[in-house]
Amino acid sequence: MTADAHPKFKPYTRQTIRQAPQWALLTPEQQEAVQVISHVLPFRTNQYVLEQLIDWNNIPDDPIYRLVFPHRDMLPAHEYWQLRDLVLVKQDEAGAQQLVRQIRQRMNPHPAGQITHNVPRVNDAPLRGLQHKYKETVLFFPSAGQTCHAYCTFCFRWPQFVGMDDMKFDARETTQLVEYLKTHKDVTDVLITGGDPMIMNTRSMEEIIAPLLAPELAHIQNIRIGTKSVSYWPQRYVSDRDADDLLRLFERVVASGRNMAIMGHYNHAVELRQEVAQQAVKRIVGTGATLRMQGPLIRHINEDPASWAELWRTGVRLGAIPYYMFVERDTGPREYFQLPLARAHEVFQQAYQMVSGLARTVRGPSMSAFPGKVVIDGVAQIGGEKVFALQFLQARNADWVRKPFYAKYDPTATWFDQLRPAFGREKFFFEESEQAAPATVPVLSRRVIPLVA
Ligand code: SF4
Repeated sequence: MTADAHPKFKPYTRQTIRQAPQWALLTPEQQEAVQVISHVLPFRTNQYVLEQLIDWNNIPDDPIYRLVFPHRDMLPAHEYWQLRDLVLVKQDEAGAQQLVRQIRQRMNPHPAGQITHNVPRVNDAPLRGLQHKYKETVLFFPSAGQTCHAYCTFCFRWPQFVGMDDMKFDARETTQLVEYLKTHKDVTDVLITGGDPMIMNTRSMEEIIAPLLAPELAHIQNIRIGTKSVSYWPQRYVSDRDADDLLRLFERVVASGRNMAIMGHYNHAVELRQEVAQQAVKRIVGTGATLRMQGPLIRHINEDPASWAELWRTGVRLGAIPYYMFVERDTGPREYFQLPLARAHEVFQQAYQMVSGLARTVRGPSMSAFPGKVVIDGVAQIGGEKVFALQFLQARNADWVRKPFYAKYDPTATWFDQLRPAFGREKFFFEESEQAAPATVPVLSRRVIPLVA
């Protein structure tokens, strides 16, 4: 390969975005919004996103532009003007920081008890960088993977990028992870997540994965990696200098008899129209790994059944598996991105109707709420009452999974906690259960467990 065959990853942040040639294509007002709002919502992009994913003739409505560039309406007008005044007019850094802290706290930085619950322990000591929410799956957050090739403006993990969660980590945690797994034989899946763990080089990834292949961890059947690199930097699998080594690592996992599962985050069909993105899919599945496609439904970005259908169809053609359409979480600039659940169901249903059976592996729209993953199965009329038909696909209590339940139809509800039980009931069935905490997963801590070294 020539040097050009290995394009070097080049990130842009608030401090450096002016150096990107595309910066001049933004109006002064758009540039100002980026400078102001990126104080609250982290901003990062890269040359591939700028050069190949964004259609600059279509800004600011281009979906990928909205996905990575902060927009003025992502903050309420009064907050925007107050922050603009502090940042650009008064240049009052301390005042701006104070306001930024207030705004971030208002944005529900830790939805669904992400950080305050599910923290596993060994010898009564909390384990750093781990979450154990569902009995068969442990989440692992390596500190070197707590950034991304670009940041999504809607991201629910945003506190990690702005220093609100201390996600530092050292190599000892792999040992702790292994120790924990040795004593939890009911865990079958380890999900390595971030940020984006694929920001790490192959050697670092190998240091995490290789110990999971030990014979005493034979109960670990699925090693998953959650990543958006497949769309923000598919070169990771194609032309990065250690791309081939990464593929060899996947092959090694597969050869051990385990499933190497890449949980690919896609938001729009355009992300899979690029040749390099298609090559990445083919190279991943060529190793014997599986690639599942998932992503949230977001107003202004992908409220378009045809885009979802194209994405799933292309993915299936290349060997990927459509997996989840999520409902945008109740965090960050949710007022800007959220859609009523009724609309989410409509988009999902229309997209589902456009694809063949092979793409109907997809599930959704699904809410990753505090009690578990709740999918909206449909809107129905039962006994004269209009209701949402719901069920848990995953739950804190395994007994709740796949038990149908019903909520009053509410055309304005955008998240699970806004729904009320149907048929005159006071509570949903799982609220009546005394087992609010999972039977099998230790919830011994109710506080943030920072990943301090
Ligand atoms: S790639 Fe994932 S973790 Fe990173 S900003 Fe986007 S949604 Fe968040």
